[in-house]
Amino acid sequence: KAEKRAALLEINKKAAQYFYYQLRREGGKNAHDYLTGRGLSEETIRKFGLGYSDKYSDDLYKYLKSQNYSDDLLRESGLFNVDERQGMYDKFWNRVIFPIMDVNNRVIGFGGRVMGDGKPKYLNSPETRIFDKSRNLYGLNIARTTRKNYLILCEGYMDVISMHQAGFTNAVASLGTALTSGHASLVKRYTQEVLLLYDSDEAGVKAALRAIPILREAGVNSRVVNLRPHKDPDEFIKAEGAEAFEKRLEEATDSFMFRVSIASGDFPMDEPQGQNRFFERCAQYLLELSDELERNLYIEAIVKEYRRYGISVEDLRKRVNTLALKGTPAEK
Ligand code: ATP
Ligand code: MN
Ligand code: MN
Ligand code: MN
Repeated sequence: KAEKRAALLEINKKAAQYFYYQLRREGGKNAHDYLTGRGLSEETIRKFGLGYSDKYSDDLYKYLKSQNYSDDLLRESGLFNVDERQGMYDKFWNRVIFPIMDVNNRVIGFGGRVMGDGKPKYLNSPETRIFDKSRNLYGLNIARTTRKNYLILCEGYMDVISMHQAGFTNAVASLGTALTSGHASLVKRYTQEVLLLYDSDEAGVKAALRAIPILREAGVNSRVVNLRPHKDPDEFIKAEGAEAFEKRLEEATDSFMFRVSIASGDFPMDEPQGQNRFFERCAQYLLELSDELERNLYIEAIVKEYRRYGISVEDLRKRVNTLALKGTPAEK
């Protein structure tokens, strides 16, 4: 079993070298231009080991066969598709390649992006014996060596790479999946503090709302960064530069208050009924806090933020206590 893992790591390493080499050949010019066109420097391309899978559908397969790997092992690597008629052929075809490294700098899988608007935009290696998507984070092999006492968590490969290039080398991304408790405990090994920089769309907000309690349960505090009007960290940096980006990081919102502010958008706040339901929701969130001092601090923060609705600290505290007596479990 350990032997098989070692062989799969070897295959991935060879594949990464192969893709890397393809990017530098004549046939890789389009791919190289694509990356340069997105603002990546030669140094960044090298640092992340970016590559290209060319337009021939079995080049990688032939190359690895020439190195005497068995079809069984190659199938297990997730780098190939199996077709009854055609046999095995390369999974990545005419894509820019992002090798995915574990914290020990071993290549465990790949992401591949179409150059342009094709679908699917990204194709990722499937989970294998050596690639557990819920226990690895893209960029953590580099981010773990930075001095910062927090990690930046975002959605995409390009976000991580852009941030690193702009000097934010503590950025990591989950691998096209939602954040799991496995990710959270991985994060906890390196830091207790995370800034969430998910995309500014509805999906990104939902992902942040789901990530916050998962991180908290692992003992990791989080704050949420607003990137609007830009869509993601990559686009923000391209449009406004590193300094403006840094400023947004400093303005990050406490994750509890982020949940509260999202909740305020769920109710008609121009009506007493909407306001009432909003404060009921706040009381539910506050009940989740077991520490009394912490709860009091957030009661004050909410009252301060929403004082235009005429609520007082006593009002809100009473609402929390009533809810506690009812023993209603907090709804989502
Ligand atoms: P780009 O800037 O290159 O357009 P992005 O990172 O902004 O890419 P998103 O659509 O925001 O792209 O997706 C975020 C991440 O989710 C990607 O980096 C990728 O890991 C994953 N992802 C996106 N689309 C797919 C897909 N079709 N299949 C699998 N994973 C995907
Ligand atoms: Mn997105
Ligand atoms: Mn993007
Ligand atoms: Mn994005």
